[in-house]
Amino acid sequence: MTTKIPCLDLKRQYLQIADEVAEALKAVCEKTAFADGPFVETFEKNFAQACETECAVGVNSGTSALHLAMRVLEIQAGDEVIVPANTFIATAWAVSYVNATPVFVDCTADTWNIDVSAIEEKISPRTKAIIGVHLYGQPCNIEAVSALAKKNKLWFVEDCAQAHGARYKRKHVGGFGEMGCFSFYPGKNLGAYGEAGAVVTNNSNYAHHVKSLRNHGCQERYYHDEIGYNMRMDGFQGAILDIKLRYLTEWNNRRKAIAKMYHDGITTPRISMQKQPEWADSVYHLFVITTDDRDGLMKHLQAQEIVSALHYPVPCHLQKAYAHLGYTKGVCPNAEYLADHCLSLPMYAELMDEEVQRVIEAVNAF
Ligand SMILES: *Cc1c(COP(=O)(O)O)cnc(C)c1O
Repeated sequence: MTTKIPCLDLKRQYLQIADEVAEALKAVCEKTAFADGPFVETFEKNFAQACETECAVGVNSGTSALHLAMRVLEIQAGDEVIVPANTFIATAWAVSYVNATPVFVDCTADTWNIDVSAIEEKISPRTKAIIGVHLYGQPCNIEAVSALAKKNKLWFVEDCAQAHGARYKRKHVGGFGEMGCFSFYPGKNLGAYGEAGAVVTNNSNYAHHVKSLRNHGCQERYYHDEIGYNMRMDGFQGAILDIKLRYLTEWNNRRKAIAKMYHDGITTPRISMQKQPEWADSVYHLFVITTDDRDGLMKHLQAQEIVSALHYPVPCHLQKAYAHLGYTKGVCPNAEYLADHCLSLPMYAELMDEEVQRVIEAVNAF
């Protein structure tokens, strides 16, 4: 009997670090450092170092990290922010939360990241920023996007939620723009045991401001300088993330090895993969492929006990939540093609070689 290969299995990783986790959770309890506090601070210091940035500020989710970046840049009602159509919806939420308008731009047909040549025509006098997303773990064309941002006097913000450890021309993502926003949602390459996120930056004023906003807009307790939020990171999450950060490179290297096996092993012409430019060092948060008959392939894999997933079935510009913006089918053809033809194969560091082989054989037999 064949055993099931889940698309993601967080338990395998937990079992490897269970003892360290138990100790860390106990330490948080003994110090009663539940909200923010010393464990979060230690993680922030280590995470900034890992990202090669001056500062890192822990928050309660990746969505909050993006939201606070928009607040810090004073983006507000009437402003527009360029966002890729092919991303997880939270990139756009951040823009909407500050009452600004996301302006969706198509991805390229091969890298599946934002199409830089399609950005300029979307820039208006109201445009304030571009959010670049390093989708599936692969850096977007950072130099081209930031050059365009600079030329048009726009902020460049990085959504690094899927790209912990990814590098653009050997430099870690997150420090290229004004701020880099990370998610530590459990399924991410660096995942918490609950919800968490972080903003990294080389600008200490920004870091200071994010710290105030995440904590009700105060620097001194009970003196509120502006309208803030409760977006602090949990002590438990800080402690767990600090343990897991030590394994991140090893885990990412294993993901890269699995990706290489997929690249080398999947030979059927019915499958296309994300093109990787030479400057992009991806950490393969997801391994997305496209095929002419996506639903057929999904069923074919399911019949062999291989679970695949869809990232994402509807591009942002066609989501019901944004129907009021008036986008129609056909305006972002590459993102729309992906939504209809993409499939994510199992991808996590704990996948065994035999399992990867089984996936490869099943895909080739399709
Ligand atoms: C996960 C994710 C987010 C949101 O992070 P949360 O921690 O779930 O709030 C934002 N952008 C992208 C691209 C993501 O993948």
